[in-house]
Parts: sequence; C-alpha cells; structure tokens
Amino acid sequence: MSAVDLTEKEPELYKAREPIHPKSIKGRFRTFKTSMLVLAYAVFFLLPWVRWERAVGPGQAVMFDIPSRRYYLFDLVIHPQDMFLLAGFLILAAWLLFFVTGLVGRAFCGYFCFQTLWTDVFMKIEYWVQGDRNKRMKLEKQGWDAEKIWKKGLTIFLWTLVAFWTGFTFTAYWADAPQLFVAFFTGTANSAAYITTGILTATTLVAAGFAREQVCIYMCPYARFQAVMFDKESLLVSYDVNRGEGSTGRKPLQKGLMTLEERHAAGTGDCIDCKLCVQVCPTGIDIRDGLQLACISCGLCIDACNEIMDKRGWPEGLIRYASEKELETGVKPSLFKFRTIGYGIATLLATGLLLYGIFNMKPVDFAVEQIRQPLFVVMSDGTVQNSYQLKINNKEQVPLELELELKGLKDAHVSIGGNFTTLNIPADGTRNYLLHVRAPREAGVSRQIIRFELKDKSGRLPVIQQETSFNFR
Ligand code: SF4
Ligand code: SF4
Repeated sequence: MSAVDLTEKEPELYKAREPIHPKSIKGRFRTFKTSMLVLAYAVFFLLPWVRWERAVGPGQAVMFDIPSRRYYLFDLVIHPQDMFLLAGFLILAAWLLFFVTGLVGRAFCGYFCFQTLWTDVFMKIEYWVQGDRNKRMKLEKQGWDAEKIWKKGLTIFLWTLVAFWTGFTFTAYWADAPQLFVAFFTGTANSAAYITTGILTATTLVAAGFAREQVCIYMCPYARFQAVMFDKESLLVSYDVNRGEGSTGRKPLQKGLMTLEERHAAGTGDCIDCKLCVQVCPTGIDIRDGLQLACISCGLCIDACNEIMDKRGWPEGLIRYASEKELETGVKPSLFKFRTIGYGIATLLATGLLLYGIFNMKPVDFAVEQIRQPLFVVMSDGTVQNSYQLKINNKEQVPLELELELKGLKDAHVSIGGNFTTLNIPADGTRNYLLHVRAPREAGVSRQIIRFELKDKSGRLPVIQQETSFNFR
C-alpha cells in the first residue's frame, strides 16, 4: 500500500487580486470613450445646478422630491399616480440594452456604464500622479518609501475628492442643490444627506478605485446573462485568429519575419506578439484567447493593435468588431437579423408607449369613495342621503375651477360642506371633500348607478367623470 503524502498542499480556492496597470493608448475607440465620458460627466454633475421656472414646485430642472412625492424633469412633473412611467422607462431601457447587445455585444459596458466611466477617471488620476504603466508597476513593487507614500496618498486623496463630489451630486438630485450645498457645508443638512453622500462616496471609491474589473467580472449581473443575447452574427471585439496565427502561429518580429510577405511565405500570422493589446486592456485579459466574460467591449485593444499595424504599414483590423460568422466565413454580418429586428421593434414599441403615456398623462386625478358607515340615512322629510369622499388632484401648474355635476339620479340635491358645487383646486395641489347627496325614495329601487362629472370652467380640459352607486336601503 502506498503511503499518503501528507505534505501535499491543498489547491488554493482563493486567488488574491493582482492589480492591473493598463497602458494608455490613443485611437478612435479611446476618443469615443473619452467623448462619452465628458458628455456623461457634464450631464450628471451639471444637471442639479440647472434652474427651471415653475409656477409651483422647486426651481430646479431635475429633482426627485420625496417629501412632496413629485419627480420634476424639466416641464414634466411625475406624481405617484404616474409611476407606471417609471416602469415604462425601465422596460424601454431593458429592450434598448438587449437591442444594442444583440447588435454590438457588450458595448454598454465599454462606453456608457457608470463603473467604466468612473474607473476611467480614477485611472486617469493614477496616470497623472504616478505615470504610465511601467512607472506604476515599478511603484507597486517599490517599498513604502516617501515617494510611494506621497504618490499613493495623493492618488487616493484625489479619488476621494471625485468620489465625494459624485456622492454629493447624487444627493443634490433629491434636494434643492444650492440650498443643500450651503446646509451641507455648514453642518445643518438633513442626516439623510450626509448618510447618502457618505455611502456613495465609499462605494464609488471602492468600486472605481480598488475593485475595478472585479465589479465587471464578479458582481455585475449583466455580465452573467449577456451571452444569451449573443449569436454567431453579433458584432464583438474579436481577434482574427486566421490572420493573426497563420498556419504556424504568431511569432515576434525577427530576421526573416519582418514583412508581411516573409511572414505569409513562412506560414506565420500577422500578430507579432507585442502584447500591447493585453497591456492596454482595463480588465487585464488577452483578447487573443477568444470571447471572455471579462471583456467589456471597450475597443482599446483594437486601438492598440491598429497602432502596431499602422506603424508597420500593415492593414488595420487584426483585432476588430467582427462576428464569429464573419471570422469563419469572411461574410459581413447582416444588421437585419430576426433577433435584432425583434429587439428593435420591441424598443420602438416601448418608446412609443412611453411617449404616449407622457403626452396622455391625466391632468386631474379624480377619485370618489362612498362612505359605508352608514351606507344611507333616511332623513326626517323621507328623502335618503348617501355620503361620498371626493379626492381631486390637480397635476397642472395652474389653479383649476371645476364645476361638479351629478348624473343619473332624479331630483338629487348635492351639497359639499355647504351649498356650493364649484371646486377651486390650487395648482399642483390636492383637495378632499365630504359630499352629501340627497334624493327622494324610489319605490322598488334599492341601488342606482350614478355619475359625478367635473367640468373645467375655462373649458380647457375634457370632462372628467367617476361612477359610483347610490343606495336607497
Ligand atoms: S479585451 Fe479589448 S475590448 Fe475587451 S476589455 Fe480588454 S481591451 Fe477592452
Ligand atoms: S497588439 Fe496586435 S500584434 Fe500585438 S499582440 Fe496584440 S494582436 Fe498581436
């Protein structure tokens, strides 16, 4: 019997993260990424400071006002009753994501995702303070001397400033930004503002500063299910294996393999194994290994490889946006695939429904609830009285003068806390009324359907109506 080797080590299930130090690169995709970043930052950081004239409500263009339960988006005011619009918006976002993913793979991750945008800025700070890849790698290996402490400390300090301003800006969407600014820095803001800003600061710092690609690989749910949206015709950042490897594989530039003609004659591929595509990758992968979960489709490896190809005067596109089918057959994918058309139609439908919902939002919400305790009262003159609770919510930015009418009950008398039937509802305001309806008894009738109608005295709004019942016994 052979002896068990007790000195044999168990395989490690945990592998510590190795920091990635991507090399900076110029190119079309880098320029596009930077443009998206500048646009996204300009919108996110400036929007809370944009002022907006309203008859009622805050003077802020975009504000999510929790205490008054109103979401202000320029001239659009969303009330709690309009929350279906939010559901519509989320459905539209989902279909748009499916459509874009079906068309060009994980492009959202590479160019528009918050994680990518903030990680990009944090990397830029690292680059300014510590230098490009080689200098950063050297600093990483260096002992904790004064230079390392200063550079690492300054980097984290600048990250924290960006993270804090991100957290504060997010909070500013939920309050009047200038007022919040003063209150926040004089220590008089609501504790929720400090907690929200603190949480956002910490999460931004951790996600964009320290976790980075780990968020994309291990935490992002989209990374997990994106593969089901791909097919052989989806455009993905791909390495052209046939061209790069030839029949004898990739080889570095060397004597006899300096030109394309020499390489092709020797069966060698166009990839010179310079590894620049790996060095620029923010998730640290080698695209030449094929499609990987960690690839966020940022296109930086395309810029890197194109730079190498341009330098040598060889055709660009060894790494490019290409479908699996194109790489196998050389046939360009058609944009009009069944799946993409389906996603496109669903996106258009969702957009149409959302716009329809926005342009057909009810200007007035009108609810009638019959009081059931007691359901009816027989008055001393023999008539029967039923009572109702009326709730009218004016979502317009102007006051409304509404005329109340009752239909479907003969000889009925309506009174609202007094004998008036004109209801004045303030702009963007709600009014509740207790309403009594009195009518003579009708022989053999126990219950009758009645209708309340609200007419805008200015004639601008259509008639609004609600049905309920009148009980004789
Ligand atoms: S492999 Fe290329 S496209 Fe994918 S994440 Fe890395 S650099 Fe970006
Ligand atoms: S950048 Fe291009 S040539 Fe260099 S290793 Fe990558 S694929 Fe090969």
